[in-house]
Amino acid sequence: MPAFPSTSPPIVGRLAPSPTGAQHVGNARTFLLAWLSARSQQGKLILRMEDIDSPRIKPGAAQQAIDDLRWLGLEWDEGPDVGGPQFSYVQTERLPLYEQALAQLKQAERIYPCTCTRSEVAAAASAPHAGQEGPRYPGTCAANTAALASRFVPGSFAWRFRTTDERLTIHDGLAGEVSCSVNQELGDFVIAKADGTPAYQLAVVVDDHAMGITEVVRGDDLLPSAFRQQQLYDFFGWQPPRFIHVPLVIGEDGRRLAKRHGDTRLATFRAAGIAPERIIGLLAWSCGLRPTAAPIHARELLADFSWQRIAKIPFVFTEQMHFT
Ligand code: GLU
Repeated sequence: MPAFPSTSPPIVGRLAPSPTGAQHVGNARTFLLAWLSARSQQGKLILRMEDIDSPRIKPGAAQQAIDDLRWLGLEWDEGPDVGGPQFSYVQTERLPLYEQALAQLKQAERIYPCTCTRSEVAAAASAPHAGQEGPRYPGTCAANTAALASRFVPGSFAWRFRTTDERLTIHDGLAGEVSCSVNQELGDFVIAKADGTPAYQLAVVVDDHAMGITEVVRGDDLLPSAFRQQQLYDFFGWQPPRFIHVPLVIGEDGRRLAKRHGDTRLATFRAAGIAPERIIGLLAWSCGLRPTAAPIHARELLADFSWQRIAKIPFVFTEQMHFT
């Protein structure tokens, strides 16, 4: 080991569950990889509760996500249950931060009031996961200006981010070099409701920046969102984190793991007395970290963890793999 301190900045990763329902095997796989990546580099981990999607938040799901993750053998340095230097680790308690960012965007005319698509506005509070991307916004309201927003009936519009044509390139830790023109391929996106309630894209960027996150590990259905977020980082002049988008867990029908594939909730396995090591073992095998699915504790995977070993294809969770 060198006698001098390393010059590379410390890694700060995060686990960002959405308490819109129970955490399942698919979420667990992404959280395990985020944890392994940060911890294997002696990095710090933050747990942030992403609960801004008010109508879809399930009572008790935030505490359950914490319990599930701890049961799996994962832990963190800062979070709603352990505290830390941030005033809160729960998004609904951080609204003033998002409002401040929104004010900056308005001031700079980078957002405009948009009276289109109620359903898209409603959906914007949550991350757009597989199959939820929707068509590109055609720019119907793009001629509106933030300065004249008071002419609209309060509550009748959302705020949309004015994207640019410039081609952005992201060096993703798993997907490699990926590029996209946000305006042409994705279009202007919703950033807040009229009352200033943030959309996922705004909250996630403000929080990742404020919490000093250097590494974002999440499902690869959010890769398009990384480009949207890159545009926000560029606007604010903030350094984006390193993105690592991991392939999803899918069912035998090729669709993102969901209720239709049976009960894969961690809480169900926990209640049935299944050992968490069995779940970690299956996930480690699914990622290519172990040759078999033999039970193992998450911390036993740290010593030889490397992103180079992680499978770049989705993991098909079959009927036979159910633990119960
Ligand atoms: N809370 C988000 C989700 O569960 C995470 C999004 C992200 O990691 O950026 O979908």
